[in-house]
Amino acid sequence: MKSEATRIYEALGDSGKVTVLTGAGISAESGISTFRDSGGLWEQYEIEDVATPEAYAVNPSLVQGFYNTRRAHLGTVQPNDGHRALARLEELLGDRFTLVTQNVDDLHDRAGSRRLLHMHGELYKARCAGCGVVVEWRDDISLDDRCESCSASMRPHIVWFGETPFYMEKEIPDACSDCAVFFSIGTSGMVYPANTLALKVKAAGGFCVEVNLEKTTDSGIFDLQLEGKAGETLPLLVTELENLTRS
Ligand SMILES: [Zn+2]
Repeated sequence: MKSEATRIYEALGDSGKVTVLTGAGISAESGISTFRDSGGLWEQYEIEDVATPEAYAVNPSLVQGFYNTRRAHLGTVQPNDGHRALARLEELLGDRFTLVTQNVDDLHDRAGSRRLLHMHGELYKARCAGCGVVVEWRDDISLDDRCESCSASMRPHIVWFGETPFYMEKEIPDACSDCAVFFSIGTSGMVYPANTLALKVKAAGGFCVEVNLEKTTDSGIFDLQLEGKAGETLPLLVTELENLTRS
């Protein structure tokens, strides 16, 4: 039987492109908790109280405080071998590589990924609620912080539930219909956006790979399902792809 890396390598060919979608699972391996974890940073919050435009309208200081805590926590964690493996894959493929992440942390950035689309925004950025200008932001955002251009208030540069993710008009759909191989990593392949992006890849004839702690129920979308931690699976896979490319 052909190795998993060989199947991916053959699907990729000499000039095929790779599009990767990552989700909370890869960052959880670095110690970033999610709404689904129990006992984590988020346990005291309900999604609808802190991650919706309605919540921000009703209680902006609670929402700002929630993201301020997460922003401060981000400075205490490090990228893991999964993040680093994806940066190596980008080095191998150059412009044939696109990374789409649902994560708002900067762990892919710090690991060295550059062809990177943050579809749900970034913790280390703030956005003006008035004119929409986006600026780098490392510290807490307070209700007194004002936009330098228009003096409106500043909000986290985060896509909340009910808001439209970034890059969905062109960049992400193009990267999916244009790629030979699609990876869904650390996110359930059964739910949005992984399922709709994978379907787009399939419709264009691409090869879909899922890397997740546990196989999501076989929906028939994925040609290959790899079970395990991203930090263990990806380094081995990328090393094999590097060796195949050089041989
Ligand atoms: Zn402004």
